[in-house]
Amino acid sequence: MTPLNRRTFIQAAGGGAALATLGFPSLVLGAARRVVVVGGGVGGCTAAKYLRKLAPDIAVTLIESKPAYTSCFMSNEVLSGDRTLQSLTFGYDGLRGYGVEVIEDSVVGIDPERKRVQTAGGSRFDYDACIVSPGVGFKWDAIEGYDEQIANQSIPHAWYAGPQTQLLRNQIESMPEGGHVIIVAPPNPFKCPPGPYERASQIALYCKHHKPRAKITILDAKDAFSKQGLYIEGWTKLYGYGTDDSMIQWVSAAQGGAIEGLDASTRTLVGLVEDFQGDVVNIIPPQKANAIAFAADLVDGDWCPVDKRTFESTRHQHIYVLGDASSASKMPKSAYAANSQAKVAAAAIAARFQGKEPGDPTFVNTCYSIVGEDFGISVAAVYSLDAETNSIEPIPGSGGVSPANASPEIRKREVSYAHSWFKNVINDMMK
Ligand SMILES: Cc1cc2nc3c(=O)[nH]c(=O)nc-3n(C[C@H](O)[C@H](O)[C@H](O)COP(=O)(O)OP(=O)(O)OC[C@H]3O[C@@H](n4cnc5c(N)ncnc54)[C@H](O)[C@@H]3O)c2cc1C
Repeated sequence: MTPLNRRTFIQAAGGGAALATLGFPSLVLGAARRVVVVGGGVGGCTAAKYLRKLAPDIAVTLIESKPAYTSCFMSNEVLSGDRTLQSLTFGYDGLRGYGVEVIEDSVVGIDPERKRVQTAGGSRFDYDACIVSPGVGFKWDAIEGYDEQIANQSIPHAWYAGPQTQLLRNQIESMPEGGHVIIVAPPNPFKCPPGPYERASQIALYCKHHKPRAKITILDAKDAFSKQGLYIEGWTKLYGYGTDDSMIQWVSAAQGGAIEGLDASTRTLVGLVEDFQGDVVNIIPPQKANAIAFAADLVDGDWCPVDKRTFESTRHQHIYVLGDASSASKMPKSAYAANSQAKVAAAAIAARFQGKEPGDPTFVNTCYSIVGEDFGISVAAVYSLDAETNSIEPIPGSGGVSPANASPEIRKREVSYAHSWFKNVINDMMK
């Protein structure tokens, strides 16, 4: 190595000044900053990729417990038979191509004092900033008689795409003609607010062609749901909703839809008013932040409070919580929301490392649902921060739901938009 003399020092400093104006000051100081990302889902992957794009001098390590990501979005299409689980599964090589170090391990603790992440495999990772995007966990004590083992074996939640999605698909396929599918929809807040209703629609799409006398009942802990008017329009057109012969029935909380217990041996759900028995039962349990958020003391109640300008935890400095696990009202818990929040957090971290203030964030969310063949619907919004209330507010007039009673062309186009949205989000987060 050439020793530094006055001339080479000045040259290095000059080069450094040029680098600094390009936005790489930590290279100049010779102190590469390290960001550790916990969870390789939408929020974690997007943040890791965009950090590397914004500031290639930042060393980014992403720790994910699974070898590949299986997307929940579009997983309802597995239930109609329109898609395979394989088509939803993506490896992490794309992220490695951006210089992200990807480690397959589970994070079991985060020490905010030492700024250190601990994994089940016994490794430790020091960080300057830590991003946590672990998704949701389930409240297993909410429905008596329902637990994780039953979910894995016979009554799947399928609220993470994977073996339970396949189990549910197999059960629907082997159900007798005229059989009864019950979906138990959770109380707010939960990931993907329109998801249970899209699920009912996708199961109906399959049954319409293969088991036309089947019935699908949604037992709901709520009295209203996302895109309700558009769903009911679709169900009425496609599945006879509102007639005695309707394939889909929705039982609101006020009508006795809230469920207290399960007898798994007979697939009977115990309601507040009456019991319901199904051939196939899909319980989507009430939700909270995933376990690591509790272990790392990032939670207040069920979710992780954050400063919505940066998504930094209000409980521990230098830890940023994104996506479903965060308390990001008024954004829904969706893939697009997690993707949008990740970019805001990545920009805030890069700015902080450069000694700059974070900017004023805006966010975006679009959510498509496929109600049936050639029948798509959507909701969209652009949001800005109300710094005084630390609330993310939709900008008036920036979005809304797709029009009621739209033409068949519009409905068909929304299905193709949904599929291209899926490709775009996957590309943006990890390719
Ligand atoms: C049926 C269904 C349909 C949906 N459809 C849509 C849709 O159409 N549009 C939309 O926008 N959203 C949709 N969503 C919601 C979307 O999937 C989530 O909102 C989104 O994935 C949230 O991203 P995230 O980063 O918070 O969590 P996730 O994407 O769930 O990623 C969390 C990751 O963290 C990992 N992890 C957890 N704990 C640890 C740990 N301790 N150590 C290491 N890794 C860990 C997990 O393995 C996982 O890979 C749907 C969801 C469902 C269930």
